[in-house]
This record gives sequence, C-alpha cells and structure tokens, in this order.
Amino acid sequence: MKETVAILGAGTMGRGIAEVAAVAGHAVWLYDPYPQALEQALREIRADLQKQHERGRLTGIEEILARIQTTASLEDCAQAGLVIEAAPEKLELKQELLGKLGELNENNILATNTSTFSVSAIASRVKHPARVLGLHFFNPAQRMKLVEVVGGLETDPGLLERMQTLMQSWGKEPVRVADSPGFLVNRVARPFYGEALRLYGEGLAKEHIDWILKGMGFPMGPFELMDLIGLDINYAASTSVYQAFYGEPRYRPHPLQYQRVAAGLLGRKTGQGWYTYPPGPPPPPTPPKAQTRDIPLPLIIGPNPLAQELRASLKHTANVAEARFVLDCRVKLERKHDFFENLPVVSLVWGHSASAVQAELRGRPVAGFSLVPPISPTTVVELYAPLSGGNEALKLAQTYFAAHGYNTLVLPDQPGGVAFRILALLINEALSAIAEGVASPPDLNRAMRLGTGYPLGPLEWAEQLWLKPVLRALEGLQAELGEDRYRPHPLLRRMVAAGLENFGNLSLVPYTKGDLQTREEEAV
Ligand code: NAD
Repeated sequence: MKETVAILGAGTMGRGIAEVAAVAGHAVWLYDPYPQALEQALREIRADLQKQHERGRLTGIEEILARIQTTASLEDCAQAGLVIEAAPEKLELKQELLGKLGELNENNILATNTSTFSVSAIASRVKHPARVLGLHFFNPAQRMKLVEVVGGLETDPGLLERMQTLMQSWGKEPVRVADSPGFLVNRVARPFYGEALRLYGEGLAKEHIDWILKGMGFPMGPFELMDLIGLDINYAASTSVYQAFYGEPRYRPHPLQYQRVAAGLLGRKTGQGWYTYPPGPPPPPTPPKAQTRDIPLPLIIGPNPLAQELRASLKHTANVAEARFVLDCRVKLERKHDFFENLPVVSLVWGHSASAVQAELRGRPVAGFSLVPPISPTTVVELYAPLSGGNEALKLAQTYFAAHGYNTLVLPDQPGGVAFRILALLINEALSAIAEGVASPPDLNRAMRLGTGYPLGPLEWAEQLWLKPVLRALEGLQAELGEDRYRPHPLLRRMVAAGLENFGNLSLVPYTKGDLQTREEEAV
C-alpha cells in the first residue's frame, strides 16, 4: 500500500499537487483552514480530471477523487508519511506549520513547496530537520514535469534519493538542487526578464524584444511571459533573489517593472501589463519572400560557429574582388581594423556597439548586426546603425538578409544585440549556478528546458556558440557598458584558459552534504 500524503494549502499549487499524488495512487489529506478553499479545490480537481479523461489520458476519475479527503485539522495530516506544504509564501507561517507537524509526528517526511525561502531556514524550527526537504513543483503542477528536489543543510541525502524516485513514480522529472536563493530555474531565468527590461529601458521596443526572442525558439517573449506570470509575482521573485544575494547587481530589479506593479498593471489577470488584453502582443511581421537575384555578396570573416553557419546557409564569396562588403563575425574589437581597405563593414555587435566599431574603422561605412545560431527561418536579424546614422553598410546588410528571406529590424545602437545579450547573461548565470554546486550541468540544461520551455539549455547553447566568443563578448559588454552585471563568471574564464569547450569534460567538486561526507570519510 502506498503511503498517505498530506498537502497543506489547497490553493493553485496545493490542489495541483494533491491531484498528482491521487492519480499516482496515494491516499491524500488536503488541508486548508478555509472551507471555501477546499470546496473550490475539489471542484477544480474534478474539472481537470474530467478534461484529461475527455482527452483519453486517464480513467477512473471517481476512484481518484475518492482517494482525496479534505480537512481543517493538522492532526489528520500528521498521520501521513509525507507532508507537502503549499501554504502562502510567508516564512513564519511555513516554519510554524511544519514545526507543528514535526511535533505531532516525529517520523514523517516534511517537504516545502516554497519558491523563495531557504529550506534550511524552514527546517530550523522542525524537530529532526534531517527529514525536511524542498519539493519545488512548477505551475500548473498537474502538467509541468519538473520538480526541484532541494536538500537543506541538514537534509538526509538518502531521503533526497528516495524522494527523487518517488517523484519519478508520479510521472515527474526530478532534478537535484542545492538550497540556494531562487533554487535553480528561478535563479538562472532571471536575466531573461532582467536583461529584457534593461534593453527596454535603453530604448528598444518591447514588441521587438519579444519577436526576436520568439524567433530564437523561446515559446514566449519576456514581456509576454511576464504578463502571463503576473508582473507582481515576477517582480517579487526578482526582488527576493536580489535581496538574498545581498544586492548583487546581476539581479537588480528594474524600476520600469516596479512602476507597472505599483500602477496595478499586473498582466493578463488585470487586463493590462506590458500589453493590453485582448488582443495581447502584436503578431511578428512575416518575412519577405527570398529573392535570388542581385544579392550583394559579402566576405564572411571569422572562425566561430556563427560564421560557419552563415557561410553554410547564405550566399557569399571568398573572392575579395567580387565582395561588396565584409560580414565580420569576430567578437574582439581590436581585431576589427585595417583589412579589405575599401569595403563597407557589417560587424557583429556581441561585444561592442556599431558606434564603437565605427570609431575603430574611421572613414568607412559601418553597420552592426546580430543573430544567434542555430539559425532558422524565424530568426530575426538585428541591424544597428552607428550614432553617426544610416549608411551604405546598413543598406547592404538589409538587402542581403532580406534577400535570404529573413526579417530584419533596425534597432537603436547598443552593444550585445537583443538576442545575444539576454542569452549571454543566461549562460553566465548558468555557469555561476554550476560553479556554486546548485546543480550539475546536465541537470541544469534539463531543468531549464522542462521548467521554462527554452529550446536549448543555456550550457548546451554555450557549447554551440563556443565559450570563447561568449567570454570575449561579456568582456566587451562589461567594458562598454561599464557595469558589473556583465562580468564574466570566473569559471568561464578558467574553462576558456584551459581550452575546455564542453561541460561534459568539466570536473567540478559538488558541495552537497552527502558528497562532503564522502570526501571527509575518504580523507580520514
Ligand atoms: P495560493 O494563494 O493559490 O494558495 C495558498 C493556499 O493556502 C490558499 O488556499 C489558502 O487558503 C491557504 N492557506 C492560508 N493560510 C493557511 C495556513 N495557515 N495553512 C495552510 N494553508 C493556508 O498560493 P500558491 O500559488 O498555491 O502558492 C503556494 C506555495 O507554492 C507558495 O509557497 C508559493 O511560493 C509556492 N509556489 C507557487 C507557484 C505558483 O506559480 N503559484 C509555483 C511554485 C511554487
């Protein structure tokens, strides 16, 4: 017989987790101090089971529902082998609830679904804290496969193993995560919103930012996604990670987001956030039909995967006499002068603005461009005119990419480009998380794909771009923007210095309690 599971809190998450546990065959106590919350939870669980039944995914609705009992008594819950707390996000409330359960039964497993608080802090009020862990489900819990299994400082490592196996038996994909601010997904995803807000604050249109990111394969653009999550919830997550890291500049929330929250423009739920609902964000423009004649051919310069992919998929020439312009895919600014004397230059902006490149190549027409591999028919090519204005290089770039069927957008000049700047900071954040032992590289990639729908994990993307161009670009961004939030993580520097291009070959010493114990035993 499967052990009984108790869920504390019958709100959005609690009712979803209760449904998952009941479908997996467990008897469930669903606890909430408010009877109307319990009634609503049962109604919604029934409606969701019905929907799944109609889609042919599930049978035996009545048996599943019969396994769920509601209660307003913690004593009932104390009999359960596993308790999962999904009460409102207040530290003292969570400590009190699990502390009380721990008094009523000294042997059960106590899990918290907190998004922002330290599992160790919640466990501090519980008798025998070795049995406390985080089981961080994602919304909606019935559908989202990812569960972060979070070990606090005192959690028994064997318990984490057992809970991973249990989550698998519930049809979930558990990922082991260390107890640190934002855990894994909510932390690594911060730049997706934070850097998009920075770019918006620098004068780029939110519609353009959303189109570019969707063109890269992200299911939603950052502004659209903030509207779905709720600007207040997203802002609270950013603020909590920022505070938990004592004001680390990478996580600083943006005043423009606060302004909307303060105005009550919270997204879809209030009918207005970044966009107005309906209709929501405008659809992206359709790319022009590719023309095959009269394409100005460039010399494509650079060894990196972007240059290779452009050479493989776009018309170009290796003959200087035939070339109408140079498409320079190199990242370092120092490399960008004194070649092909008379040709206009369209230069990659990953590490530098078009204006900075123009300053290096005085007297020549210069434009900036960016697009991030893997290139697809939906890729939006970002084009940048230097501050001196549009010129022949910009016109050549527009004609060239449009002739291949790509959408082009001419954007206000800034270093990095939209797609690359956001991606580079996601990669840098992912590196910081693995360097701190929050998760392993494969788990991080898997968690980001499952938890956020990213088309590739950030570290997989880094491998595809090569680490060296990412490092050089971050160095350039830090220099030109003059801000610490762009500083490359030391692990990135070390990997490039060591010639490592692949996270599979990386040997990191994790510092989870179990590993430390093993290492101490070995040392003895
Ligand atoms: P919610 O507001 O939808 O539900 C909270 C429920 O707790 C309500 O039914 C409320 O009546 C009940 N409650 C109030 N006081 C209580 C008490 N003293 N004891 C037990 N229950 C009490 O909140 P939610 O979105 O389900 O979030 C619950 C937890 O899950 C939070 O810790 C949140 O951070 C976390 N979480 C939320 C999401 C999400 O997207 N909503 C995702 C992951 C984790």
